[in-house]
Amino acid sequence: MGIVKSILTNHFEYKIVRHWDKVYYAFDIHGTILKPNYQYGNTPKDFYPMALETLQLISKLPDICMILYTCSHPHEIDEYLELFKENDIHFQYVNENPEDPTDTNGYGNYDKKPYMNVLFEDKAGFDPENDWAEVYALLLANYNGKI
Ligand SMILES: [Mg+2]
Repeated sequence: MGIVKSILTNHFEYKIVRHWDKVYYAFDIHGTILKPNYQYGNTPKDFYPMALETLQLISKLPDICMILYTCSHPHEIDEYLELFKENDIHFQYVNENPEDPTDTNGYGNYDKKPYMNVLFEDKAGFDPENDWAEVYALLLANYNGKI
């Protein structure tokens, strides 16, 4: 339920209250989008239930920018981006958010931690077996008729 609360607050609520036209969703890969196999050189391709459908849906939403947030090696990142592209899933950035750089006099310093609004990360409590379906239903209900 943590991810649903995060979307309700950090996306739906703040977008209105703070007059944002866009929000940033960051996604871990292993244990979040794909089932890990822990084998170097054999990148996993097995999606968790509803991860594919949910990421395809988010890829179509014009006010969500998708950031891949991963510790994968650069050549693996290329393979993942290709896998996602083949499945109509489109990430704008990897491990960075150049749209919201550090402003010396601003609130945050984003040199090492990219600016994001919602984080999908199994290490932070995201439950990949169950949470994708909840996110899918939440977004579909919110954007119904708008896309
Ligand atoms: Mg992970």
